[in-house]
Amino acid sequence: MQHYVCTGDCGGESERSKVCESEGCKNEGQPLSECSCTDGFHKGVLDTDHEIDLAEPMDDEDAL
Ligand SMILES: [Zn+2]
Ligand SMILES: [Zn+2]
Repeated sequence: MQHYVCTGDCGGESERSKVCESEGCKNEGQPLSECSCTDGFHKGVLDTDHEIDLAEPMDDEDAL
């Protein structure tokens, strides 16, 4: 189901498009990002760099 998540610090979620309303969040006042994940991890929207970070150590072991 389509939903919207804040990519800032608050981790906010909404079923409808809106802006982040969390005071102090770096994305406060910014529109939430569309997401359609089914596992609740919002991987398509939230820090996708994390997956790359996890893969790097494996590459290092390969090189040894
Ligand atoms: Zn936020
Ligand atoms: Zn999601």
